[in-house]
Amino acid sequence: MQLLFLGTGAGMPSKQRNTSALILKLLEERGTVWLFDCGEATQHQILHTTIKPRKIEKIFITHMHGDHIFGLPGLLGSRSFQGGDEPLEIYGPVGIKDYVTMTLKISRTHLTYPIVFHELVEGKVFEDRLMTVETRLLDHVIPSYGFRISQHPLPPKLQINKALLLGVPKGPLLAALKNGQDVELSDGTWVRSSDVTDAEERGFIVTILGDSRFCQAAIELAYDADVLVHEATFDGSAIKMAGEYGHSTVFEAAETARRANAHTLIMNHISARFLPEDEKLLLKQMREIHTCGFIARDFMEFEWIQHEKKIRKKQGSHL
Ligand SMILES: [Zn+2]
Repeated sequence: MQLLFLGTGAGMPSKQRNTSALILKLLEERGTVWLFDCGEATQHQILHTTIKPRKIEKIFITHMHGDHIFGLPGLLGSRSFQGGDEPLEIYGPVGIKDYVTMTLKISRTHLTYPIVFHELVEGKVFEDRLMTVETRLLDHVIPSYGFRISQHPLPPKLQINKALLLGVPKGPLLAALKNGQDVELSDGTWVRSSDVTDAEERGFIVTILGDSRFCQAAIELAYDADVLVHEATFDGSAIKMAGEYGHSTVFEAAETARRANAHTLIMNHISARFLPEDEKLLLKQMREIHTCGFIARDFMEFEWIQHEKKIRKKQGSHL
């Protein structure tokens, strides 16, 4: 799993930061990528990466403000041009279906693939054998959602050499042991699955939030997360203004991470008022409350290291 930030600015694009978009790469896990929000020119940002639009399996929209959705129609059209014929699922607040179908209809854009829409209600919005996605309503000026993406525990790994040494023949008995069943060999001895498999390993938990004031739902969504992506539109001194505009400060993002016991905080949705040199101050404010964290920049990438159970910034991962 990797997180690739495509747009990390608030409100409108600047030379440093495009509007919101974040790719959750799940290439090893499911051979696809998921996109969270799709600000204007997200598809231009994608051109600077190795992402193929046809690999986008799901798009999650946190809320209907333009800086989070104005890139959607163009990207959907390009996905079609580039030979995408796999169905696409779009999850978003009520209105997302009207917005997409209307813009495609008026612009006479015909897609080569079907779109399945899921207008959000709180709770579990997706689950398969690999992962679960839950959503909660946050506290913004319009309905804004956050997502908690949990990977299910990884199946225990079979220690093949150990099993072979115990006399298990290659074939279905090995598969049964891998699936947790004890097996009987032809000479009547039993081999226990637990003797030849490693313990089950936990998967990752990623929480990605839409725009929000400080709120309890955000803390609950981020509970014990390995990584929390939280907006930080304002610096710590602007708590009142942040509240008035439905946003959070760096302090509030850090406080959410601390209370949730989230490991790594990545702050995005950074106001154009802050120049790259201001990031030091923002990080200093964050560290007063939560030690492990980053300010995202466009094209910054983070990767999940399974054996360390940690997310790490990829070196040199932004332009
Ligand atoms: Zn907003």
